[in-house]
Amino acid sequence: SKEDIQAFLKKNAFVLFTVAAVVVGIVLGFALRPYKMTYREVKYFSFPGELLMRMLQMLVLPLLVSSLITGMAALDSKASGKMGMRAVIYYMTTTFIAVFIGIIIVLIIHPGKGSKAEFGKQQKIEQVSPADAFLDLIRNMFPPNLVQACTQQFKTKYGTRKVHTTVTVMVNDTFFNATTANATQEVEVLEFTREEVIPVPGQVNGVNALGLVVFSMCFGLIIGSMKEQGQVLREFFDSLNDAIMRLVAIIMWYAPIGILFLIAGKIVEMDDITQMGGQLGMYTITVIIGLMIHATLILPMLYFVITRQNPFIFIAGLLQALVTALGTSSSSATLPVTFKCLEENNKIDKRVTRFVLPVGATINMDGTALYEALAAIFIAQVNNMEMNFGQIITISITATAASIGAAGIPQAGLVTMVIVLTSVGLPTDDITLIIAVDWFLDRLRTTTNVLGDSIGAGIVEFLSRHELRSKDVEMGNSVVEE
Ligand code: ASP
Repeated sequence: SKEDIQAFLKKNAFVLFTVAAVVVGIVLGFALRPYKMTYREVKYFSFPGELLMRMLQMLVLPLLVSSLITGMAALDSKASGKMGMRAVIYYMTTTFIAVFIGIIIVLIIHPGKGSKAEFGKQQKIEQVSPADAFLDLIRNMFPPNLVQACTQQFKTKYGTRKVHTTVTVMVNDTFFNATTANATQEVEVLEFTREEVIPVPGQVNGVNALGLVVFSMCFGLIIGSMKEQGQVLREFFDSLNDAIMRLVAIIMWYAPIGILFLIAGKIVEMDDITQMGGQLGMYTITVIIGLMIHATLILPMLYFVITRQNPFIFIAGLLQALVTALGTSSSSATLPVTFKCLEENNKIDKRVTRFVLPVGATINMDGTALYEALAAIFIAQVNNMEMNFGQIITISITATAASIGAAGIPQAGLVTMVIVLTSVGLPTDDITLIIAVDWFLDRLRTTTNVLGDSIGAGIVEFLSRHELRSKDVEMGNSVVEE
């Protein structure tokens, strides 16, 4: 009936708008391509998209901190310990499966067959030792200065250097999203310094997310154990969290417009696809197949096997978040939307989402792990280097580490690839060969990352239902009978 249709439209308005935005964005993008806009014009054109990114990113910091603190405070240390264990086991298992799929697929399809095609500009990239990168990761868990951890910017680092490379500009622009002043200038490639190419692991937009995650978790756990004395803080962060989520609801109205322009802008800007060499084309297809297997087979199957519920209904509730991930290519920027989808559509317990999602968005990246392993072996193939079993094991370990270290920001995975390549002696300069398609593959792996985090929340909630319930009983909350 008419009312039913109206009710349906009202309920799914956001999703419909966002999906429509993607479609319109793609059409508009291709329609405008023949006009060959300059870099500056593209920047102006994508401005509404840039605004969406900024709005979402603006909320990430307070959301991350307030959700983790309230999430941890709502549980006792035993319950959160168990839940944490489950989350970590889930993250590790799915990441390893992802890496495994990446390796198998690239070995079977062998996209790097043939002599090395020059499909990209070769540029010099500084080596970084895996040991240093690993220590950086640990270091960042303990920010010496909390205020600085929230405000650190890459801007100054780049600002002081007058010579930028195209890659760095790309890095500045989409990666660190920092110096907008430089974003409208196209500058020539000269050389990289270590700081320029290697982001500090765990950092999002210059915010040390990993450090804040560690601090907030400990802080939340402590105020949760403080009984009466902790009450003020618990209420404070709880209401801060509520307020932020209300802001998210407002931004969601703007999201379709932003996504439309983000996608259209990127399509206008991208290199000519017909120029893409055979190897690069095959590589792109291989990555897509790998991600598809993980996202549409493995993860739903895992969800089904554990919870015995229909995974596709669960995924349908996430659509908005998945499209946002596709549009922003940042799992951190998508975080506010992921929260909304899981809590409102899929009715996942807030104590679970608040705890699992921020950690997941920071360290659990299935798509990135799959991608890094696959890309490393592709680069080996292009160079006609056979990887032996030991090297493949090394790649799978470093790819996992690199996905943990990669921040949830656009193209972070491309940069942490340096670690994977160095660990098996592959030429790091060859990363530049795959840059041309990375903007696209990045969107797909980000969507996979967000899906992985969300399914993880569903699974952890299911496995923790007993603890959650007994906590409800203890707190005198109304308990819904199963
Ligand atoms: N862009 C990805 C994310 O935000 C990270 C990556 O580059 O793989 O999840």
